[in-house]
Amino acid sequence: MDHFLYKDGVLCAEEVPIPEIAAAVGTPFYVYSTATLLRHFQLFDEALEGMDHLVCYAMKAASNQAILKTLAQAGAGMDVVSGGEYMRAKAAGVPGDKIVFSGVGKTAAEIRLALEGGIRQFNVESEPEMEVLNATALALGVTAPITIRVNPDVDAKTHAKIATGKSENKFGIPISRAQEVYALAGAMQGLEVIGIDVHIGSQLTDLSPFELAYQKVAELTVQLRAEGHNIRRLDLGGGLGIPYARDNQAPPLPSDYGALVKRTLGHLDCEIEIEPGRLIAGNAGLMVSEVIYVKSGEDRDFLIIDGAMNDLIRPAMYEAYHDIVPVIEPDAGIEQVKFDIVGPVCESGDTFAKGRAMPPVAAGELVAFRSAGAYGAVMSSEYNSRPLIPEVLVHKDQFAVIRPRPTFDEMINRDTIPSWL
Ligand SMILES: *Cc1c(COP(=O)(O)O)cnc(C)c1O
Repeated sequence: MDHFLYKDGVLCAEEVPIPEIAAAVGTPFYVYSTATLLRHFQLFDEALEGMDHLVCYAMKAASNQAILKTLAQAGAGMDVVSGGEYMRAKAAGVPGDKIVFSGVGKTAAEIRLALEGGIRQFNVESEPEMEVLNATALALGVTAPITIRVNPDVDAKTHAKIATGKSENKFGIPISRAQEVYALAGAMQGLEVIGIDVHIGSQLTDLSPFELAYQKVAELTVQLRAEGHNIRRLDLGGGLGIPYARDNQAPPLPSDYGALVKRTLGHLDCEIEIEPGRLIAGNAGLMVSEVIYVKSGEDRDFLIIDGAMNDLIRPAMYEAYHDIVPVIEPDAGIEQVKFDIVGPVCESGDTFAKGRAMPPVAAGELVAFRSAGAYGAVMSSEYNSRPLIPEVLVHKDQFAVIRPRPTFDEMINRDTIPSWL
């Protein structure tokens, strides 16, 4: 559920009417609901109740400082995948011992940054990374706590671009080689092996791939302990999906997921870490856009809006579906019409939906993309020299701009001119 509902015929973010925000910041923009962010975090926290656990928000889903602070103040840890994300988490006040460092290509500089600033653990993804981490830790005179990310060769049954747990994916080490790699890690003086990590993909709408993966992790825990490794923390990754279409069958709830974690891993007496991103931020955000033109084509009508693929790339990149709704509630029973909904960018791929049935809307009216909170603003660019769109956070009846729209000058003046010009 989310906190974007029609009140008196106008779509609101919590208690703030969307047109009020549009008038203040212009379109397009992203808007997030504090209540939805917190509710989703709490659902995960409650789902793991009774087990020693930490919910580490995968901040690549939406990494604005205000979002991080909102979740950190509720007790969330952070899962980071770059030096930039690590610095963002620290800047938002997250202590190092609540930051987990994931990612397949951590550089020596990023590793040093995290070792110096404090880190809960590194989720190591390869032997060469392990060697660099060991050498960096020894040079600094510290020990790096690690889990090793195992690739369980499980089909997550999701979009190919966000599946990460099959043997052909670049992530982790094959689970069949785990004992060998753990033995290597155990012999390195700069490392302290504390656990196992697994993350099989994103937007999973079925629990069975998680179940398969976690059963393999349970077996591996027993094996590694028998070989003398003190496995005491299991990082189970993220990946639980959200409903993007209203009529979708709802994916499993965090409580179902929590029950699965307890069933498969509860007997091992390990601390559990999870790294949800999409399920925390996805339905907590909208992208709001204004209709520029309604253009009649030969065999279809185009809704040309001021948001584009550079602002929200998911439809172009993953063929993703977003519900797109008028901000002014249509009359009940109004006849739907079909539009191709497109942005102004000079690419045919700048298409949000084809033949989408929706209530008629006209130029100057606002539309909202639902479920745009995750992998939205963070994946945006200034392609076609369209300045990054603002982000707004709502809390009850208040709203604040949490990232302003750059002016044209700010955008242009980021470039510098070489002396010969
Ligand atoms: C992307 C990612 C996540 C978050 O995935 P969601 O589908 O957004 O929950 C968690 N852990 C790792 C290692 C990731 O790469």
